Amino acid sequence: MKKYTHAWLAFKAIERLAEADLSAANRKYADGLIQWFMDHRDGVIQGAWYPDAVIKDMASSHILKMTPSDQAAKKFKYLPRTYHLYQSGKNSALKKKSFVIDPGTNLPDRCEAIAHAVIDNLKMQETEHKGSPIAPTDNHVATLLFMLSHYVADAHMPLHCDSRRFSEGWNLHAKIEALWDDEIKKFYAIDKVSERFLYDPYGYPLFIKESQQDYTNSFLKEVAQHLAERKFTVGWGRGNNNVWDFMSALCQYSYLMAYAFIPEGIREEDVTRDNWDNLLGQTESFRNLSMAAFCDAIDSIARIWFRVWRKYIRWERKRK
Ligand SMILES: [Zn+2]
Repeated sequence: MKKYTHAWLAFKAIERLAEADLSAANRKYADGLIQWFMDHRDGVIQGAWYPDAVIKDMASSHILKMTPSDQAAKKFKYLPRTYHLYQSGKNSALKKKSFVIDPGTNLPDRCEAIAHAVIDNLKMQETEHKGSPIAPTDNHVATLLFMLSHYVADAHMPLHCDSRRFSEGWNLHAKIEALWDDEIKKFYAIDKVSERFLYDPYGYPLFIKESQQDYTNSFLKEVAQHLAERKFTVGWGRGNNNVWDFMSALCQYSYLMAYAFIPEGIREEDVTRDNWDNLLGQTESFRNLSMAAFCDAIDSIARIWFRVWRKYIRWERKRK
């Protein structure tokens, strides 16, 4: 995914938490996080893009690439039932088959590691006295949270979980991500000099009113509609206990989505913009794939941020 997509998804995750139907206790945690995010939102575009702009671990930590295999079938994990990726993948024929993971690809590890780093840094901040040379700043913690959202979001791009070579030649992978980013740029006001969204009165990216007409047909509108009807859940999904478990499950269903869009047997170089919705054996259209990626990414960022934040606040409370 590209720069503005990443930042927009992060804002949507916060909006999702603001609107979620949560228990009274969870509402308090969420409100604290939302307030904290709003105080640091100017850094989202830069922070959420840092992994691509500076760290550049695209070939290892932005992906978990899978290949179908004939070994004994592996059991797939679960995701929250509300997920499009889960609903799409749970009946996939490929789910009866095993898969192998490309060595050196490790997106779930990266997410787990940054989640720990966020909590550790918050704890250090709380423990250290003012002016301590080892106390991390708020901006530093915010940047880690924004970076975390990047790796989490990347897992929802199905081609990040598929070992077939779609990033070469015509580069389907880049074409799709450019199309998504164009959509954000078309509908939301961005100050490209200061690298910030312009904000609406509620503090979220400002929707460009003049583009209302086009928006009717945009998948972004469909994403908003789906999320409005979908319950936000805090749980990781059955059998998952932490960020790593959840992200591993996510990558599995993202992989299944890649094959629902581009079925086995189709050669990478034969997929083009003209035929990508008419591939033999296809069960998910490009639009469905886009919708699933965006809706689920928003919920995943919201869930992971919320749980990381809550974990820290609980620690802080116990300490007092
Ligand atoms: Zn990335």
